[in-house]
Amino acid sequence: MPNFYSAVLVNHREPLRIVETPAVTPPSGHLTVDVDFAGVCGTDVHLTDGRLPVPLPLVLGHEAVGRVRALGSGVTEDTLGAPLAVGDAVTWASNIACGSCFYCVEEQERSLCGNRKVYGINLGADDWPGGSGGYGQQMLLQPGTTLVRLPDALAPEQVVALGCAGPTVVHGLFGPARPSVGDTVVVQGSGPVGLASAMYAKLAGAATVIMVGAPAARLELATSIGACDVAIDITEMTDAADRIAAVTKLTPGGRGADLVVEATGFPPAVEEGMRLCRRNGRFLVLGQYTDHGQTPLNPHLITKGQLRVYGSWAFSGADYVKYVSTLPRLAERFDLRRLVTTFTLDAANEALQAMRDGTVMKAVLTPSASFGGEPTEKAGGAA
Ligand SMILES: [Zn+2]
Ligand SMILES: [Zn+2]
Repeated sequence: MPNFYSAVLVNHREPLRIVETPAVTPPSGHLTVDVDFAGVCGTDVHLTDGRLPVPLPLVLGHEAVGRVRALGSGVTEDTLGAPLAVGDAVTWASNIACGSCFYCVEEQERSLCGNRKVYGINLGADDWPGGSGGYGQQMLLQPGTTLVRLPDALAPEQVVALGCAGPTVVHGLFGPARPSVGDTVVVQGSGPVGLASAMYAKLAGAATVIMVGAPAARLELATSIGACDVAIDITEMTDAADRIAAVTKLTPGGRGADLVVEATGFPPAVEEGMRLCRRNGRFLVLGQYTDHGQTPLNPHLITKGQLRVYGSWAFSGADYVKYVSTLPRLAERFDLRRLVTTFTLDAANEALQAMRDGTVMKAVLTPSASFGGEPTEKAGGAA
């Protein structure tokens, strides 16, 4: 079997290393894929920095699109029942819930399953040598993976453009906080989660979407693709009170927003977001993925405002299916390709740095096209 290359996190706070691995024949119930595009996520930056416990060595990459390379016995169709053949373009959810715990069975909230296996995060390279993350030219997908064959109309770049932010927003926004037709929606944050929130709010019929974020290049991108109507740059309007006054003035009757989505990861944004809501409004805290600590918060805002405050964690396989099913409409309305900056697999460290610095909206690796696109011919040449 031919070998393939992966960019591997061997030790925290060290550059990823290119490692050569023998390809595997998929066992029964499994399949292998050639990874064409793999998103580089803010979470990957945190993982390389050692801020979350993960098995090492680890092939990062929990957002990917590729083609079926080989099907193990018994694998004949995708999660929706569409027939699968070698060469089909596919995408898959990063996480596999156990299906038998309290959250899986009684709550039906698989995103909260404590036993989830997640490609690129908790499947170590030693435990899963057939390819355990998207920063590799091949991956071995295991039974229970939510896998969707892509419609011909969708380009793989469009599928990977929002990365895990897409299904994360589908899970968060279309729970109880959901935007309604005619709503004024404020999105705090202009990274992939903020951008996806703005796009889905528009798609759901929001009358006005106001984005509050930085840097300017990301706000310009969000505005130019039509994801928001007004953008407020927090590096220009540095005082929170000024921002609250400016945003409130833009809402009907100066009452505040019907829905505010926090997508910043910056704890003080939570109180600011509550102050941007109208009374009886909804506030969705979606951006506090990493624990960045305490923030002062006046709880009187919640009672007096009669605010409905929601949290949302990750996404399930079902959310991923919903996300892929809405992508054609999203791609029709917004130029998703403009979000993407590609890097070859051997430039994975530069891609991580670009995400760390916020100099690109979405860094995406091109594993199968890297190393000349012919890893077998270069076997032994790049370790
Ligand atoms: Zn479970
Ligand atoms: Zn991600």
